[in-house]
Amino acid sequence: MGAIKDLIKQEPGGLVARAYTFAERAHRGQLRKSGEPYFNHPLAAAEILHEWHLDDATVAAALLHDTVEDTGAPLETIRKEFGNEVAFLVDGVTKLGHIKYRGSGADAASADSEAQNKAENLRKMILALSEDLRVVFIKLADRLHNMRTLGALPPAKQRRIALETDEIYAPLAYRLGMHNLSGELQDLAFPYLYPKEYRWLLSVSKEHFEERMNYLEEIKPRIERLLDDHGIKPLAIEIRAKRYSSLYKKLLRRDMDLGRIYDLVAMRVVVETLPECYAALGVIHEAYPPLPRRIKDYIAMPKPNAYRSLHTTVIGPEGKTIEFQIRTKEMHEENEYGVAAHWLYKQKTDPTGKGKAPSGQKLAAELKWVQQLKNWQERLSGESAADPEEFLRSMKIDFFQDRIFAVTPRGDVIDLPFAATPVDFAYHIHSEVGNSAIGAKVNGVVVSLDHPLRSGDVVEIVTQKGKKPSEDWLRFVKTSVARDHIRLSLRKKESAIRAAAAGSRSLARTELKILVEDRVGLIKDISGTIAQSRIGIVSFHTETAKGGKLHVNRVDIQTNDKRKLDKIVEKLRGVRGVREVSYK
Ligand code: MN
Repeated sequence: MGAIKDLIKQEPGGLVARAYTFAERAHRGQLRKSGEPYFNHPLAAAEILHEWHLDDATVAAALLHDTVEDTGAPLETIRKEFGNEVAFLVDGVTKLGHIKYRGSGADAASADSEAQNKAENLRKMILALSEDLRVVFIKLADRLHNMRTLGALPPAKQRRIALETDEIYAPLAYRLGMHNLSGELQDLAFPYLYPKEYRWLLSVSKEHFEERMNYLEEIKPRIERLLDDHGIKPLAIEIRAKRYSSLYKKLLRRDMDLGRIYDLVAMRVVVETLPECYAALGVIHEAYPPLPRRIKDYIAMPKPNAYRSLHTTVIGPEGKTIEFQIRTKEMHEENEYGVAAHWLYKQKTDPTGKGKAPSGQKLAAELKWVQQLKNWQERLSGESAADPEEFLRSMKIDFFQDRIFAVTPRGDVIDLPFAATPVDFAYHIHSEVGNSAIGAKVNGVVVSLDHPLRSGDVVEIVTQKGKKPSEDWLRFVKTSVARDHIRLSLRKKESAIRAAAAGSRSLARTELKILVEDRVGLIKDISGTIAQSRIGIVSFHTETAKGGKLHVNRVDIQTNDKRKLDKIVEKLRGVRGVREVSYK
């Protein structure tokens, strides 16, 4: 807090100072749910936008953003007092606010209106984006502060807002390249959406986090000295803990095994110039051996969302792994602030020297994907009005162009990187589906397992019980999930042969029979529930039950402990869509 006060001191009669006075007066007497003065909220939003290096008009509009909606100040007054630009921004934010959102957690009866709301919400957001990005920046700052203070609201409202944040705002921030914001929004939403999982994660990871933090703090001076010896003076070395929400997602893909997460805490090295990035990487590799396949050059090949950095994992002192992220200050700001950072650099290099910000309109037009999105939205808005589901589906496909969305025969959407193969697809359904894959059909036609998939493909994986992955697959798979599982399975195969030779007996197993009414994400929820109890899954098979509507999942799990089994049955019965669970 305080940066806005400084701005006002610098220019007492300026736009920001006048907006401050106006908003403070308009909200006087109003309180937030927490009991504090309402004005604290627009002020906090303005502080956030100032931190993102946005211009005075945006900061002023943030101070005023709730005056029209909540205090009845006429837009015309805002226009007269603060001019067209600020009035336009305030109006844009006000219009975006008129959305009731339910999200995908609501019950089935309201599924239709729910999809409609979501579609409407996205449509408004896209329009605002293409008109002036600053409207969306204000909305994001508004949401960030509301999420930071969500604790004061009643639980039902907390859940609704958290869901909307997770499904709309965080992906939007991500797409705008604002990774830090996107991550913070997801992290703030996580405890409200998954309270049990959150508590579990805290309990299992707290020690690991502390241990890693202490280790890196200890190593930090050595790294500084090492770089210094080679004439590299970093601007900053930061120790960054992985966010809980992304850690949880990663754990779901890693069989809940914390030991397989290398970037729990990473060391971030910020240097002055591009050559220094590579020099620092070389120096670090010379001192500590890098882990194979963990070196990623996102400078030469930026991520589709423009993220740039060098990543590497090395074996540090005491044989412990360290992940390094090396980047310049400019890359760092772009990674943190995304599109907003471009704004900053434009302003700085403005040849007129008057510090005039480029218009939000111009900036939006320069972003090719924003333009494409707008064209596409206009094309679609007419025909899709009758079918919000369809609008959402195509929205997702076009919005995330670097991703493909392939579909299971039962309508589960699997999100994969560009040119992923049926093997990647199979491993994203479940590791056992991947391990036992012997063939694939795309849109009803048999294809080879290395066939590149495209968005909208309906993919059916043919499996055979007891089948093991082939080493060949490593040559063409595109995802680390697939690669890791294939390697793991190949290793297991070797040790199984050895174990059999040694005459050891097989592990305890039980087959769970789960009768379900299928829905999107159900298999993931079932396997997640089992994995959370730290019980290994040996195989997972699905068949349609007699009559058609229900499915039977047969899951072989690695335990025959009756207490454990009863517990997992109890938990699985609580999963939405599960009708009956039994074991033998
Ligand atoms: Mn607000």
